[in-house]
Amino acid sequence: MNCNEVEVMVAAYADRELDRLREHVIEKHLRGCAGCAAMHHKVLALRARLRAEVPYFPASAALRAWVHATVEAARGAPPSQPRLALDRWRWLTGGALAGCTATMLAWVLGTAVIDWRTNDDLAAAVVASHVRAMLGNHLIEVASSDQHTVKPWLSARLDYSPPVHDLANEGFALTGGRLDILEQRPIATLVYRYRQHTIDVFVRPESAHAPPPALRTVRGFNVAHASGSGMDWIAVSDVSASVLSPFVQRLARAGAAP
Ligand SMILES: [Zn+2]
Repeated sequence: MNCNEVEVMVAAYADRELDRLREHVIEKHLRGCAGCAAMHHKVLALRARLRAEVPYFPASAALRAWVHATVEAARGAPPSQPRLALDRWRWLTGGALAGCTATMLAWVLGTAVIDWRTNDDLAAAVVASHVRAMLGNHLIEVASSDQHTVKPWLSARLDYSPPVHDLANEGFALTGGRLDILEQRPIATLVYRYRQHTIDVFVRPESAHAPPPALRTVRGFNVAHASGSGMDWIAVSDVSASVLSPFVQRLARAGAAP
């Protein structure tokens, strides 16, 4: 196989769409030809960039409803096809069914990918907020260790009332709160002090999205999540994960305690 032939097939090769024999021949050519190997590398790099940078869009509620309705209708349909059905008809419906399955699979995978991307973006966004507040000296808008001062201040500025608890006796002193914007919505941020560390805790009503992972690390900051008291609690700090995770879980549970 010469370079021109490889050039034609390199994209299909990168996507693993070729048969074993051609795959083997191209593989051998790439090992001995720097030009074609570079071209192959470019295709792989482009594919990686497309995967990383092209945005995903969640399916609209209307599309979800339509897919559900279509699947339900198909389930309810009589199982036997008319006797007139020919092989060709069966082949066609088989194809349609396979197509439908593929579409459903793509939809399910797509939804999972969107949730993953959303959570990825969420962790990055809370870390960005935390860093911005720390660097910009905008950490606290209402400075108080009194939960009865912080809570009404936040409630007056939001369409929900976040539970506020001072856990100073457990080493986590409430120092105040502020408002942030997360995913285009105002969100309550509680600020705690633990030894020399500052911990930001973002509190918002529980969303219908898949919950973020319990723990993530973004640019060296730990991001821990917990659900409780009807809220999502997302804590960000440079404090170790073994401190941050139990703390955020404790806060989420604290709402239930008297
Ligand atoms: Zn070549």
